[in-house]
This record gives sequence, structure tokens and C-alpha cells, in this order.
Amino acid sequence: MTMTAPDTERELLSRVPTGLYIDGGWRQSASGRSFAVVDPSTGEALAQVADATPEDGEAALDAAHRAQKGWAKTPPRVRAEILRRAFELVTARVDEFALTMTLEMGKPLAESRGEVAYGAEFLRWFSEEAPRIAGRYSTAPDGANRLLVVKRPVGPCLFITPWNFPLAMATRKIAPAIAAGCTMVLKPAALTPLTALLLTQVFEEAGLPAGVLNVIPTTRAGAVTGPLIRDPRLRKLSFTGSTEVGRRLIADSAEQVLRVSMELGGNAPFIVFDDADIPAAVTGGILAKMRNGGEACVAANRFLVHESVAEEFTTAFVERMAAFTPARGTDPESTVGPLVDEATRNKVSSLVAEAIEDGATVAVGGQPVPGPGYFYQPTVLTGVPASARILNEEIFGPVAPITTFRTEAEAIELANATPFGLVCFAYTADLNRALRLAEELDTGMLGINAGVVSNPAAPFGGVKQSGLGREGGFEGIDEYLETRYVGIADPFASTEDA
Ligand code: NAP
Repeated sequence: MTMTAPDTERELLSRVPTGLYIDGGWRQSASGRSFAVVDPSTGEALAQVADATPEDGEAALDAAHRAQKGWAKTPPRVRAEILRRAFELVTARVDEFALTMTLEMGKPLAESRGEVAYGAEFLRWFSEEAPRIAGRYSTAPDGANRLLVVKRPVGPCLFITPWNFPLAMATRKIAPAIAAGCTMVLKPAALTPLTALLLTQVFEEAGLPAGVLNVIPTTRAGAVTGPLIRDPRLRKLSFTGSTEVGRRLIADSAEQVLRVSMELGGNAPFIVFDDADIPAAVTGGILAKMRNGGEACVAANRFLVHESVAEEFTTAFVERMAAFTPARGTDPESTVGPLVDEATRNKVSSLVAEAIEDGATVAVGGQPVPGPGYFYQPTVLTGVPASARILNEEIFGPVAPITTFRTEAEAIELANATPFGLVCFAYTADLNRALRLAEELDTGMLGINAGVVSNPAAPFGGVKQSGLGREGGFEGIDEYLETRYVGIADPFASTEDA
């Protein structure tokens, strides 16, 4: 069994930037302090990163504000070409990005490479959107005036991103903002700042002007971002993370009536109907559950299986879950990495323990893997009562609770019985049923006979407490554009000009 050579890891880590990036330059924190980034598969420190203070946050917004006017005037083609260069640079450095992500976040290298391809694709997609920002010119219905509608960049943005997809969650915001002509301040998660810093280096190399992107890792998220949210120069907040923090940020944003985009938590149902192709549903279910080790907002959180196929589905699904190999993500044998930290693993353990107390049966797994690192066994629970906490909260780990239903109406009712509405998955061979689900499920996204729906060309986002706004697709750039209307008097009213 071979692992990434420790020398390769050390050499890479010695090249990843560890400073703050403000106004086109790397600098230390105003306090001189730094914090450790930890490898979740060993619990050991990988690097020390500058820890931004509120003063640094203000310097970052100063730079973004100063750069905004000039950046908005940059030709769209220039913005497009910077994004295209960044896409090519990230793609050329796939191994570096993948290893950095695996080291700080834990997922197996093959999955990290998948995220590099997915994250880079937002750069390419929005490089293609930048020159296509359009307006319109029309005649008012009464024929008197002309109506000119133009799209303008929103202005300086603040981005707050989570640790679970350290590259893609950043490019999903940065790329459309660059395309639209907005400047920005990015605060990546303190658990995984290295990937964001490597991406910043790429933008520097791609020729992004000073002040357009400013990056401020910090251990004091609220203290550093709070004053920026209250600053009238900021015009937009885009947040990806938990519903709990998102709700608080929406309230804080009310003061300046900030535009907000919120990509929040989910509680995805994975529904298997009696007419489904069961082997395909098992494969899709494994993807939907185990991608990113279950640490995904779109992870299948509840398996709802028709009672007539429950035994067949569960037997095959348990077999596949039992075949996973938890190991450090750099190990070629690894098919599932550790959870990101001790607190996350403790939460998963307590959800499983409570479900068992509530009457659930463990079909496989059910225990943390002894250290080092924060590994948890891939787990399947059956007979979970509807009231169990595990069915009503985001698990964010490799645990699949399976419950059964009898009718389509019951499945839809169960699927919708949650305050969340990010994504649903359904396996069925009946086209009319699939279309009924597309109309009846309260969700931002729906996978039909598909365990993964994320795609940079599609609008990603949720309804209810899963969020506001969409990232990716044609819709993604609209989050960074304001609509300005110009009313013009009838050009034919004065015949002298004719
Ligand atoms: P989190 O605790 O809400 O943190 C997300 C980000 O917010 C981090 O950068 C965090 O900083 C920052 N933060 C925390 N408290 C803050 C505050 N008071 N003010 C300003 N920023 C604050 O979520 P997480 O545990 O990192 O991520 C998991 C959650 O993200 C899950 O609920 C998942 O569903 C959701 N998610 C949603 C999507 C989507 O597109 N819908 C995608 C991925 C993840 P620090 O970490 O540095 O403290």
C-alpha cells in the first residue's frame, strides 16, 4: 500500500500561501497572530495561516471598494479571459489542488480531483457568461416613451464559505462576481483556508487586478465579518453554510438592506419506488449518501423505500456500505475519509446512539473508528421511527437511515415534512410519476434516477430554510447584477430632429 510521499506533502505545503491577500498583496495579520490548519485524518497541524482581525477585514473592504469603479468598467471580454486563464491554471494544477484539499479536509484524492474539475468548471462557465450580459430596449405600450433596461454590477460583495467543498464553494461565488464586474472579500472556513489561498494565487497569476479579490481567513468569523455587513460600502452578502448561521446573517443584513444569497442546510429524501431499477437505485443511493463522506448539503439524509422492495434494496445497500475502506485520503485504498473534526464526529455518534435508543437497528457500522483521526464507520440504520432526530436534522456523515412507505402520496408527504428544501432524489420507471414529483415536492432541485445533480450549468439552490438565490446556470450571474431602468422620451416627439 503506497501513500503520498511525506516529502511531496511537505514540499506542497511549503508552497501554499499562508498570508492574508488584500489589495493585490500578501500580508500578515494586523495582530501578527496565526492559527493552525489540522489534518483531520491524523489530528496533526499542517500549516499556520494568518488570522485576520477586524482591522484586516476593514482593509479588505477598503480595497474592494476602491477597486469597484474601475473593475465595473473593465470590458467583459477582459473579465472573461481572466476567468478562462484561472480555469486553465486550476486544471493544470489539479494534483496540487487535490492534495491540498485532501490534506486539510480529508476526502480521498480521487474525490478531491472530482471537486477540482467541478470547482474549475464554474470559472469556465462564467467566463462564457461574462460577455453575454444583456439588456433590452423597447417601446412603452402606449408608444410614447422608450424603455432602456441595463444590468449593472451589484458592487462590493462579502463571501463566507464552508469547509466541505473548499474549492467549489468559493468558485461558485467568485466566478459570477468577476464575470459581472463586482469586487469581493472572501472569508473561507477556518478549517480549510489553504485551498482558497491556493486559488487566490491562481487569480493573481491570471492577472486579476489588485483589490478585486481579497481573502481573509480568520478564527473570529463573527467579529471580522460583522462590521463589514454593517458597512454601507458593502452591497451584497453571499453565504454558504448552516441554516442557523445563515438566519443570523440575514437578520444582520437587514440593517443595510443588503442583497443576500444563502446556500444553507438540507435534509434530502432519497425515495425508491416499487417500480425502480433497484441495482441502479443502490448505486445512486451510495453516491448520494457517500460523496464527500456524507459531508454535503445535498447528501441523502433519509432513505424512503417502498415496503415491497425495502428488503432487496437494504440488503444490496448494506453490502455496498460495508465495502467502504475508511483511510487517510492520500492512501490509494481509501474510499472514505475522516469527518472534518471531533465535534462533527461526536454529533454523528450522538445521532446514531439516539436513533438506537428510539428503536432503530444497526444493519452495518454504528461506531467511530479508533484513532488517529476522526473516522466513522459507514452505517445503515433500519426501523428508524419518524420522530427520530436523525431523520429531522442534517447528519453530515456516512450514516443512512432507511424507512419505508406504502403509497406515492405518503412518500411525498414524508419527503416534504421538513423545514428544508434543497434537493430530493427519486428512483422510478414511471415518467408520469416523475413529473408528478417534480410538481409536488417542495424542493429547489430534484434528481430523477440520478444520485448527483450538481452541475455548474444548472441553477443550484434551495427553497424554505435551505436558502435564497441560485448559484451556477444562467441564473448564477443574476445574483451579482442589478437591473437599472432608463425611461427615454419618445425620440419622434420632436419632428425638428427627424
Ligand atoms: P457553518 O458553521 O455555518 O459555517 C459556514 C461558514 O460561516 C464558515 O466560514 C464559518 O466560519 C462562518 N461562520 C460561522 N459563524 C459565523 C458568524 N457568526 N458570522 C459570520 N460567519 C460565520 O457551516 P459549516 O459547518 O462550515 O458547513 C456545513 C453547513 O453548510 C451544512 O449545514 C451544509 O448543509 C451547508 N452547506 C450548504 C451548501 C449549499 O449550497 N446549500 C453547500 C455546502 C454546505 P468558521 O468555520 O471559520 O468559523
